[in-house]
Amino acid sequence: MGRPETLTRYQLYIGGCWVEPAGKGYFPSYNPYTQEPWAEIPQAGPEDVKAAVAAARDTFDRVWSKTSGIDRAKLMLRLADIMEEEGPRMARLESTDNGKVVRETSSQMLFLARVLRFYAGYADKIWGKVMPLDRSDVFDYATMEPLGVIGIITAWNSPMALMANKLPAALAAGNCVVVKPSEHASVTTLEFAKLVEKAGFPAGVFNVVTGDGATGSALVSGGGVNKISFTGSGHVGRKIAAAAGEKLIPVILELGGKSPNIVFEDADINKATVGALAGIFSATGQTCIAGSRLLVQRTVYDELLKRITERAAKIRLGDPLDMATEMGTVANEPQFNRIMDFIASAKKEGARLVTGGERVAEGNLAKGLFVKPTIFADVRNDMTLAQHEIFGPVLSVIPFGTEEEAIEIANDTPFGLASGIWTTSLNRMHRVSKALRTGMVWVNTYRAVAAQTPFGGVKESGFGRERGQEGMMEFLTTKNVMINFSEQERDPFAVQT
Ligand code: NAD
Repeated sequence: MGRPETLTRYQLYIGGCWVEPAGKGYFPSYNPYTQEPWAEIPQAGPEDVKAAVAAARDTFDRVWSKTSGIDRAKLMLRLADIMEEEGPRMARLESTDNGKVVRETSSQMLFLARVLRFYAGYADKIWGKVMPLDRSDVFDYATMEPLGVIGIITAWNSPMALMANKLPAALAAGNCVVVKPSEHASVTTLEFAKLVEKAGFPAGVFNVVTGDGATGSALVSGGGVNKISFTGSGHVGRKIAAAAGEKLIPVILELGGKSPNIVFEDADINKATVGALAGIFSATGQTCIAGSRLLVQRTVYDELLKRITERAAKIRLGDPLDMATEMGTVANEPQFNRIMDFIASAKKEGARLVTGGERVAEGNLAKGLFVKPTIFADVRNDMTLAQHEIFGPVLSVIPFGTEEEAIEIANDTPFGLASGIWTTSLNRMHRVSKALRTGMVWVNTYRAVAAQTPFGGVKESGFGRERGQEGMMEFLTTKNVMINFSEQERDPFAVQT
């Protein structure tokens, strides 16, 4: 059977050129709404990855490391403008590729433009410092320098939003990059390369190699990369950390979560209801920061459960490209099967299913990978459902009595990415935020992001920070320069202090 005419075939983007993969061919990218292939993605082999890293290195040495901060900033600002203009088209492409609703992907495209502008402002302000030493005849200063070539490996759930967390900081700091998007959603990263080209970046600053895990592995282990910034599962994160350890290169790992969203009895119940829904059902729950454990104080438990169950049952599922759709499909078949397995095991474990818990089997949506918004009540925190990241629209509602108990349950997880607190007590906001072992705490809001705020996890949610000033520092290293201008001879057999 020949290729359908509508299938777009992409190429690798290496050193400013669109190139065919060296011998490994192409694989289809599926639209999870129609379950039809809609694009062909090149499978890059180790030789392609090597070529991309070599192109990035060459551009870094010859051009980018010599490009002034203000010139890097100008290019980034131009790219931000283009990204805004192209936002609606890019959003539709991403929603077609991973089934996320276009109302979410549209705002993610604008967010990428916003983060580019934030870091463009830093590009010409990367200054060092002068340190007065104990000796008056020595002058000492430290400069901040780019690392060189950064390998960026991303997950399928939000390719452009994940790019926003990594690329602008890396470019502003003066690095060149090689990006390896997920094999399940590569299209927007490849399309983004066209926007980088249009903005006028020197060839080789931004390179894209697509393919499966073997391509990512070649990027980590093939040599020539100075740091890996990875977003994905803990399982792959561990492999990358081990391989990077062999190469002695540093890594940023943005991994999974099982975030507690805690509603106290003194919360504004309307806002908490919306926050609970936003935490788990936006993006079909396919977000690392999903508030997948809803901890509710017993005194307001029945009321909150009733409200979220009623609203969850009314969530509008549909075509991800329709602005009216509230929840799209699950992004790919392996992920869909994983979610359904978790639901089956939760039922067996005795969690009380109050809504959802099955595939949409009727009507137009039966063809797509739709899971009904699912809520399990009276969940114990030691159940599989509460301990594992499901990465789907499945909420565990867990009752608690006291603030201490809430904190204990919230922290009783291998993960530590995000958390939410719903309360009107100022003292409680501070007390509980301090006690939670997560990289991010939201108070009376959930799943809100900003270019200025540092993001990242603790425990098995990973390490390193993205966005904010901290995100920039991840892509810089310090060089110290000590200048002795004394005329005196020194003792060659003792260290000079
Ligand atoms: P994944 O770990 O399966 O894949 C992520 C990327 O790693 C893909 O590009 C994949 O091709 C690549 N890869 C696979 N094996 C590799 C190897 N051996 N070496 C190098 N690269 C390899 O994750 P996924 O299924 O794409 O995404 C879901 C996971 O991502 C969830 O666990 C989720 O929590 C996590 N995630 C985390 C964040 C965050 O910021 N913390 C954000 C989004 C998603």
